[in-house]
Amino acid sequence: AVPVVTIDGPAGAGKGTVSRLVAQALGWGYLDSGALYRAVGIAASWEGIGLDEPENLAACAARTDIKFVTQQHEEPKIFVNEKEATAEIRSELAGSMASALAAQPLVRQALVALQRGFRQPPGLVADGRDMGTVIFPDAPYKFFLTASPLERAQRRYKQLMEKGVSVKLDALLHEIVARDERDANRAVAPLKPADDAIVIDSTSMPIDAVIGQVLSALPP
Ligand code: C5P
Repeated sequence: AVPVVTIDGPAGAGKGTVSRLVAQALGWGYLDSGALYRAVGIAASWEGIGLDEPENLAACAARTDIKFVTQQHEEPKIFVNEKEATAEIRSELAGSMASALAAQPLVRQALVALQRGFRQPPGLVADGRDMGTVIFPDAPYKFFLTASPLERAQRRYKQLMEKGVSVKLDALLHEIVARDERDANRAVAPLKPADDAIVIDSTSMPIDAVIGQVLSALPP
C-alpha cells in the first residue's frame, strides 16, 4: 500500500507548516483536509446554502471542485469552482463555518472518497482532525500535534499580523478554544489522537524540531 503519514491535531498547532515541509522533505504529496471543509463552507455561502441544511451541504460538498496549486516555498493556492479563494479560505470566518459543517455526518461522508484519492505514489502526508482515526486508519505513521491554547492563538496571531490582518489576541484565543471544543465533542470523527499515534506537544518547540521529530520516526 502507498505509505501515509497522518498529522492530526487542534487548530493552530502548526500542522499545516509541519505537514507541508515533511511532504517536501520526503517528496510526497500533501493533503490539507481542513481546506476541503473550508472550501465547502465558502462554496455553500456563495450558493446561499445555510449551515443548518445537511442534505444541501452534502450535495454542495460532492459537487464543489477544489484544486490545490503548489508553489515553491509558499502555501499552495486554492481554487474553489475555478475561482481563486486562497485568502478567503484562511479567514477565521471560513474556519468556523468549516467547523460547523464538519460536525455533520452527511458532509463528512461526501468528502471521504475525495480525501482517499490523494493517496498516490510515492506517498502522502495528510493533515487534519481524523486522518489517522477515520480516513487512513491503516496509515503506518501517525502523529498528533498539539500545543497549549495560548501558544496556538499566539502563533495564529503572528501569522495574521505578518499577512497584514489585524485581530485581537483574546478574540483569537476565544475562537480557537470554541472551535476545539466543537471539534472534540462532536458525534462523528471527534478530534482525538489515534490509539497508535505519536503525540507531540510543540508548546515550547521550534517548528524545525517538530519536523525533525516526525522525520526521525520514519524509516530512512
Ligand atoms: O485545519 P483547519 O483549521 O483548516 O480545519 C478547519 C475545520 O475543519 C476544523 O475546525 C474542523 O472542524 C474541520 N476539519 C475536520 N476534519 C478534518 C479537517 C478539518 O473536521 N480532517
